[in-house]
Amino acid sequence: MTMNKELPVIYTDRSRIETGQRCLRKRYWEYHYRLPTMLHAGLQSAKPALELVVGSAVHKGVELLLTWVMDSADGRSIPDMPYPDQGLDSAIDAGLADFDAAWQPWLEWADSNYDPSTENAGSLEEHPGRGMVLSYQLTEARALIEALIAAFYYAPTGLRLLTENYEILAVEQEIAVPLTDWLVLNSRPDAILRHRRTGQYFPWSLKTAKSWDERTNQQAEVDNQGISESISTEWWLAEKYLNTDTPGNVDSYHCSGVLMCYLIKGEKRADDFGIYRTNSPLIRPYFNTGAFDHADLTQYAPSNKWTCTEEHEWKGARFNYQVNGKNGCPGGKNHMRGDNWQQVNIWEQGVRVQDWVKELLEQQPELGEKFVQVPAPYRREREELENWVEQVISQEDDLNMGMELLNGKLYENLNSQTPVQLLNKFFYQSRTSCTYPWRCNAHTLCHKGLGARLLDPSLFAADADPTQQLELLAESNLVGRVPNHPESEVTNG
Ligand code: SF4
Ligand SMILES: [Zn+2]
Repeated sequence: MTMNKELPVIYTDRSRIETGQRCLRKRYWEYHYRLPTMLHAGLQSAKPALELVVGSAVHKGVELLLTWVMDSADGRSIPDMPYPDQGLDSAIDAGLADFDAAWQPWLEWADSNYDPSTENAGSLEEHPGRGMVLSYQLTEARALIEALIAAFYYAPTGLRLLTENYEILAVEQEIAVPLTDWLVLNSRPDAILRHRRTGQYFPWSLKTAKSWDERTNQQAEVDNQGISESISTEWWLAEKYLNTDTPGNVDSYHCSGVLMCYLIKGEKRADDFGIYRTNSPLIRPYFNTGAFDHADLTQYAPSNKWTCTEEHEWKGARFNYQVNGKNGCPGGKNHMRGDNWQQVNIWEQGVRVQDWVKELLEQQPELGEKFVQVPAPYRREREELENWVEQVISQEDDLNMGMELLNGKLYENLNSQTPVQLLNKFFYQSRTSCTYPWRCNAHTLCHKGLGARLLDPSLFAADADPTQQLELLAESNLVGRVPNHPESEVTNG
């Protein structure tokens, strides 16, 4: 399809590309739907997704640590105590502030849109049960954010590994790569690194994940992110170095792969009351209740099992081993701790979460790589990058054509086809993503008839009633999307 070159430049990014790959209809609702009263195109759930908000808060904290290292020349060379703890405190504060700010609008929204006759997210006072569950989830999430930032700081595989091996060239750098004269790819790698010894360049990406396994690994070998960030990093490097006095040509700024760092949150499990709790020793260790002093960090342990290192007496006969003429254990075996060891919420014990993480990783540094996992760099072939760009251009071209027709229909009644017919043609529904792996934000739009009402031409008329528009959005538990990249406001919507 051809483009009308009179149109403004279109901006895309990895998340809208991936949303389109999951379901084109989802892409329409989340990135292109726009009522006349909306500041930006796209709808998002009024209620933030806890996992995403936790991830972004942890990013905020780590971003500050990296910026701090990048800006401080002396911080890098002393291996044992490279960073003042001050840096960690302010990183944690920034992460938590980010988290609180993300929830505030929803708590206000929920209060002002409470309607007891619907199952909509009601105000917390009216739903004491749900309020309690939510308040546990939020408190636990705040502890987890503090723990993960601290784990990145103290684990040998975290900040230390990174700064000892790499020079940090940029942190959260906004990069706009023109893919054609009408299409720009927005991207913001968490960091751009240069390997100190080999001089190789890498975008670096931080992930928070429940766990890391072979499937995560295989996915990272083929995902979109490795491609989009390689492209943007090379673009940024070429611009940076070609525009300076440093001699060089574009070919010398190839990146050698993508570096990933996974911060492991642990799995959530329902307790006897149905409350889902995150099972991570970083925030829910075992405490020796016989010890009484909750401030004594040596009375906490990551697990209710322990491994002995030497032979010792042991009442049971199961090892068939004798010590001092009594039943014993030969050493190197796993034992259960006694009943006096109980799993606790570390944030309720009067100790700082970050102090427990520090104690744990200083006593058992080998645990660090369980919580901060760093796989080998993921290398991407040049051909893969080129094919990806071609497909993105083609897809964006099609969707843009669809948006032109749809906007012409909604605002000027320019087409004989109905809005739904146009959506069916350009933004068709992929029914494999409606409920799994999570319930789609547009579920009520597609499957409860709200979508057709949101496309009613009267909503787009010059004399449309804004109250009606707002009520419809409230009914669907949706609000206008907050753009993630600066230029996104001018995206075709
Ligand atoms: S509910 Fe299903 S069909 Fe509708 S946008 Fe979401 S994933 Fe697509
Ligand atoms: Zn033993």
